[in-house]
Amino acid sequence: MLLREVEYARPGSIEDALAILGSNPNARALAGGQTLINVMKARAAAPDVLVDLNGLDELRGIDLAGDGTLTIGAMTTYSELMGSAEAKARPILGEVCATIADVQVRNRGTIGGNVCSNDPTNHLPPLMVAVGARMTIAGPEGEREVPAESFFLGVYLTAVGQGELLTRISIPAGKKDGFAAVTLGAEGTCICNAAASVNGTVRVALGCVDAVPVLVTADSPDGVAGAVRATNLMPPSDVHASSEYRTRLAEILATRAAQEAASR
Ligand SMILES: Cc1cc2nc3c(=O)[nH]c(=O)nc-3n(C[C@H](O)[C@H](O)[C@H](O)COP(=O)(O)OP(=O)(O)OC[C@H]3O[C@@H](n4cnc5c(N)ncnc54)[C@H](O)[C@@H]3O)c2cc1C
Repeated sequence: MLLREVEYARPGSIEDALAILGSNPNARALAGGQTLINVMKARAAAPDVLVDLNGLDELRGIDLAGDGTLTIGAMTTYSELMGSAEAKARPILGEVCATIADVQVRNRGTIGGNVCSNDPTNHLPPLMVAVGARMTIAGPEGEREVPAESFFLGVYLTAVGQGELLTRISIPAGKKDGFAAVTLGAEGTCICNAAASVNGTVRVALGCVDAVPVLVTADSPDGVAGAVRATNLMPPSDVHASSEYRTRLAEILATRAAQEAASR
């Protein structure tokens, strides 16, 4: 289906982008377009103005600080994360990006677009929660930082408000991470996924079982299945999996991700 008529802006700075987004409640940021353009074609979204972030070099790049903290610009693509020497400081990032969809999506899709769409089947929201990422949001009043576990508010809804932009994501040092998913086909959409990180305790964030990633903690991988059970998940049923099947998958995938994280 053809797109509805839409205005297009290509700002030259974050300030200009914020000004356009702030002046029109129906303006939307355009990152890789791998979700937004598809929902526009399906008429599930009909913005008046697309504010293309692709000219903003300030939103790109991966920086590795001396203490191992990674700072990743919101417009960094999955392929850039996979190929970055700096991002190898937290190897799970490139490993998970390499499993998202196909090479075209990986070349265009951005870390910022992935988390800002907060599709519950996406790979990166649970990963950001598990690794304890912090999101920087810019708006007319300046910048604020939001921990990943408070960033995801609902299906397609995040802490990025109207007239704001996610500018970068900070990820602390660490290597003991894991990820497990059951997908529709080799590079397909997740039916259920789990990201884990071990740093003293085991943190596991589950995807596809609720509107936002569900965080559970345990003392060891052996305790993860029980911790998942104790959250009394009520995942959705759909054509791919019943609620009961997703509940069982969540326990199994959480344990697999935690075991992988602990073994590193
Ligand atoms: C065939 C196909 C299969 C896919 N399979 C998967 C999959 O298995 N797993 C997965 O995780 N993803 C999957 N995706 C989605 C893909 O990863 C998208 O790239 C991602 O969801 C959105 O990133 P984007 O950069 O394309 O953002 P866009 O589509 O450009 O934007 C998405 C949303 O985020 C907003 N936004 C973008 N950047 C910012 C910002 N910096 N600040 C504020 N708001 C912003 C936009 O306004 C829009 O509402 C798939 C996509 C396709 C086409």
